[in-house]
Amino acid sequence: MEKFLKLLLSLCLFLPALTVPSAAGAASAKEMSVHFINVGQGDAIYIKAPYGEDILIDGGRDGDKVVSYLKKQKVKDIEIMISTHPDADHMGGLDEVLKAYRVKSVYAPKVSHTTKVYRDFLYGVKKEGLKIKTASKGVKLAVKGTTAAFVGPVKSYKTDLNNWSAVLKLTYGKKSFLFAGDAERKAESDMIRAKENLKADVLKVGHHGAKTSTSEAFLKAVKPAYAVISAGKGNQYGHPSAEVLNRLKKYKVSLFRTDQQGTIVAKTDGKNIRFNVKPAGTASGSNPAYKLTASLDNTQPKQNGTIRLTVKGLPNGTDFRAVFHYKTTTTAYSGKIGTPLAVKIGRATKGYKVIIDVSAVYKGKTYKTQTFFTPR
Ligand SMILES: [Zn+2]
Repeated sequence: MEKFLKLLLSLCLFLPALTVPSAAGAASAKEMSVHFINVGQGDAIYIKAPYGEDILIDGGRDGDKVVSYLKKQKVKDIEIMISTHPDADHMGGLDEVLKAYRVKSVYAPKVSHTTKVYRDFLYGVKKEGLKIKTASKGVKLAVKGTTAAFVGPVKSYKTDLNNWSAVLKLTYGKKSFLFAGDAERKAESDMIRAKENLKADVLKVGHHGAKTSTSEAFLKAVKPAYAVISAGKGNQYGHPSAEVLNRLKKYKVSLFRTDQQGTIVAKTDGKNIRFNVKPAGTASGSNPAYKLTASLDNTQPKQNGTIRLTVKGLPNGTDFRAVFHYKTTTTAYSGKIGTPLAVKIGRATKGYKVIIDVSAVYKGKTYKTQTFFTPR
């Protein structure tokens, strides 16, 4: 029943948004979604553009993960594939994607590599009957309803593959995304010097959060509200670095991490952006600010009555402990956050205020709160 009510409530909240007539025409209701796919250590970003074009930026190291994710998203073909640079953790999976999907255009920076990964990629593109289009500053992409253009690479970087990264800025309505590939400090300062407008609401952090990227100058230029780090859990490189995490914290950027939260999905109608998960960290610290609260359905129950204690403020399902301090005895109960706990209060002394101490442990930290009732 409670579930049903919740469902009903969520429908009620949702319905007005669906039925509000759109004065600006259908365009304003279109949504763009950006999926930072959890591919372990590497990058793969799938974008469903507002008018339906499918864009893929990198394919992780292993294409299977990406292909199965795209299948789940019911992707039929890919209008634009972007290879940011020839490193295996970005390009490795693209040949699999080329095998699995009809791809209509491929963009990559003008840098080659000697690896099998690079040869497989070239072969895949050729088999698709395509020629690689050069990704570099100023090159625009035709994505309906958006402004999409590369802001990097600004110049050539010889064998320095990371700095060669194709950096895409994608704007829909008032909201922008900047996908930094593995661009490092050098490329960042070149982009700043080239007077590119780098300002974006969401930054795909460069090089998996390595300390060689995401300089203060770059953060000042991008001014992101949100940042996404794509990295593998417990990766051997120590990505993301404490330096970058602290820098993001300093600039009050809400952070999402694939290594901690899995695939991150951002959706925007051009006015607002929402994510599928809460930030992994914000300016206030590495955990969202949790605050335990406890409430009772009845603070003046009759003797032998039943009261329901609801505890909130931590993820649902977390265990809590409630200690009832009756006049003559103390009783402890345990329950789950988000699920009302029914307690029969017995012959509790009339008019005596019973304090309830509630505590819960989450990720090694103890949270406490109190409530009370007075039997009548
Ligand atoms: Zn990388």
